[in-house]
Amino acid sequence: MATHKRAETLMDSVCEDMEEKPEPYFSFGIIADIQYADIDNGYNFMKTRMRYYRNSLTLLKEAVQEWDSESTKPKFILQLGDIIDGFNVPQKTSDTSLAIILAEMEKLKIPFHHIWGNHEFYNFKRKYLMESKLNSKPLEDEIGQLTINEDTSETRSDQESFYGYHFSPYPGFRFLLIDCYDLSVIGRDTMSIKYGMSLKLLKEKNPNEDLNSPRGLEEEQFVQFNGGVSGAQLNWINSVLASSDEQDEKVVVIGHLPIHLDSTDAICLAWNYKEILSALQSHPCVIGYFAGHDHDGGYSVDASGIHHITFKGVIETPPENQAFGTMYMYEDKMVLKGRGLVLSKTLHYRNGRKEEPVH
Ligand SMILES: [Zn+2]
Repeated sequence: MATHKRAETLMDSVCEDMEEKPEPYFSFGIIADIQYADIDNGYNFMKTRMRYYRNSLTLLKEAVQEWDSESTKPKFILQLGDIIDGFNVPQKTSDTSLAIILAEMEKLKIPFHHIWGNHEFYNFKRKYLMESKLNSKPLEDEIGQLTINEDTSETRSDQESFYGYHFSPYPGFRFLLIDCYDLSVIGRDTMSIKYGMSLKLLKEKNPNEDLNSPRGLEEEQFVQFNGGVSGAQLNWINSVLASSDEQDEKVVVIGHLPIHLDSTDAICLAWNYKEILSALQSHPCVIGYFAGHDHDGGYSVDASGIHHITFKGVIETPPENQAFGTMYMYEDKMVLKGRGLVLSKTLHYRNGRKEEPVH
């Protein structure tokens, strides 16, 4: 009862008031699922939504111009994954399309933090991504011993490593990028341990011949275009968040796949979303979780008061519209200024520091 009431209070606190004073500590931009390809418009797999493959470049250009024209420029931009579309593969344009998109982003002279989604893995191998500009890990913090892929036997090998890091753009705030395709049958070398584990798990959960089909599934998220987080990565996430709890930081976690059912269609959730959610909820420092992947977008606040935002995808945004945002960070709240299909919201931080986490 108390839990329910608390969630309602948080929901009520979401308002559209954009007149904020005093000045925010800092701001950052967010954009999701650009999925650029130099091909004609076409419908999605379900034939329900038009995809504007070529125009997504134009929308990105406009977003870059608008971020550049803000009086106080964003400190960084979060690119939430699926930067180019899988249709680049048959066209043999993966490299050129990525170069075109990155050239637009570089005009901004603001660092981009890149998340990797399923379309990154349709186009490129992990090894290629690690050596590409889509690996923004060099922007990470160096905070003592808490570095990515700590020296554990599970993560020592390149083939088994995950892509994740964290950074603090302002005292008291931290951003943690996680790898939702750590356990996956796309992107992993077929000889790797994680590929074998992932295929076994997927086949146990999904008896369909087409592993991209959710037909008849009890847990709809077990499809090939999703993935999950390994035990080693969960341990690393917990260690980073424990350190942030101790330092009384506020942490935003970012991954390609949503992890809260009320913020997305169930078919877009991470395989082990419950485990990831439970880990985040057990750390009072976590104030938000941002994802892409579900082009319709979504928003929810969970029982612990963590705000879950699934950002609308650029790829399914009509040419006359837009889909990006700027987030302004304050002492007690974050204020999202959405453009086009991305709604504006004021999101008060969870008040969990003095309470036990609620599951
Ligand atoms: Zn995706």
